[in-house]
Amino acid sequence: MLHERHSIKAALFDDIYAAHDLSLCVPRYKIPDAERDPRHAYRIVMDELILDGNSRQNLATFCSTWVEPEVLDIMAHCLDKNMIDRDEYPQTAEIESRCVHMLADLWNSPHADNTMGCSTTGSSEAAMLAGMALKARWRANTAAAGKSGGKPNLVTGPVQVCWHKFCGYWDVELREVPMEAGRYTLSAAEAVRRCDEGTIGVVATLGTTFTGQYEPIQEVSAALDLLQAEKGLDVPLHVDAASGGFVAPFLEPDLQWDFRLPRVKSINASGHKFGLAPLGVGWVIWRDKDDLPAELIFDVNYLGGNMPTFALNFSRPGGQVVAQYYNFLRLGRQGYRKVQQACQRVAEYLAEKIDEMGHFELIHRGPGGIPTVCWKLNEGQDHGFNLFDFADRLRTRGWIVPAYTLPPNCERVAVQRIVVRHGVSRSLADALLADMRQAIEYMNKHPSAGPGVDEAVGGFKHT
Ligand SMILES: *Cc1c(COP(=O)(O)O)cnc(C)c1O
Repeated sequence: MLHERHSIKAALFDDIYAAHDLSLCVPRYKIPDAERDPRHAYRIVMDELILDGNSRQNLATFCSTWVEPEVLDIMAHCLDKNMIDRDEYPQTAEIESRCVHMLADLWNSPHADNTMGCSTTGSSEAAMLAGMALKARWRANTAAAGKSGGKPNLVTGPVQVCWHKFCGYWDVELREVPMEAGRYTLSAAEAVRRCDEGTIGVVATLGTTFTGQYEPIQEVSAALDLLQAEKGLDVPLHVDAASGGFVAPFLEPDLQWDFRLPRVKSINASGHKFGLAPLGVGWVIWRDKDDLPAELIFDVNYLGGNMPTFALNFSRPGGQVVAQYYNFLRLGRQGYRKVQQACQRVAEYLAEKIDEMGHFELIHRGPGGIPTVCWKLNEGQDHGFNLFDFADRLRTRGWIVPAYTLPPNCERVAVQRIVVRHGVSRSLADALLADMRQAIEYMNKHPSAGPGVDEAVGGFKHT
């Protein structure tokens, strides 16, 4: 008995890494039979995560990798708040509604008080909802006109994968305008050429994932107005403003891309990108009640309350929405402008310095789009490396600067991109530039065959 007490006491004082259960392999694909000390389980999990990339050096992602300490506190506080339980958490529901109105106002909705909209888990869910609304409205209109309509189609520029998913999941034909050498965005003429009676809408992107450039939304809108005047086709325009929806209003307030254009019927944006909220929140806003067909809204009678909802999920965390509201109050328009301005300046600085390295042709330098820098290798010059080698070299210093090939018809063009988001400071940029110069020097000294474009494709996702 006494002996046992001693051994229990000894185990309690064990250093975590000297503990018996850390000397054994933990099962990876089966839930273990026995329980274990929470401190031990915690260390095992946290140590595993060391092997992940360092998110602050991940210059591939558009998503928040730094938040103020207050946001961490809000997230912990809201751990138990379920966004769907509006009756139990009426203030969280109220905060969501305020954010919807704030965004409708930010995007110049003519009736911001009556705008329809909701939070989502990100722009991907927002795109599904917006696409479903376009499809339902189109179906109702064609039925009312006594037509069958055939298979519906969606006309887009080179879009983020969520629109490919929307079309695949909801049986809509995707008519994606291909890129051409030197044109990496949608063009108004190419969009209109693909519209017919089956077109449920046109999607234009404010800040494409491939280069960060804004698509010419005002031109697309005008071309669709002309199409209606000439052929009677009334094609709605949706703006995928995943990143740009939180950049353009602050840096280019005169750019006409939003509800100021009557043809723009809905807009989505990612709160967790330049909206500066933590991961897990997006937004979709409809111009008018009529743009969101009523049959898509479910009135759920649940736990004593009636909740109108339009969402793919049921239960979902509330903290991200509350943190978004905190950001709106904390920063105001002035604060957002300062943050995005700081990002844009670092982007311009990086573009200038990367240009000076003598190997690269800059495709996007920040202004005219979101704060990203995108480049390709100069043509007709022997570099002794390709962009995939370059990305690999930078990875040895922890930097994630993805190289990838463009979609059709520019599959032969490899580019590299940096997203300058909140927290990519001037001094971090200088550290990266020093490592870039060193990487080039190294590759010049040790020229390698390196992986070709074709083998190296697909290693990075556009997130
Ligand atoms: C990131 C992105 C998406 C997907 O958004 P999530 O918030 O990651 O779901 C869609 N469209 C564009 C243009 C994007 O940049």
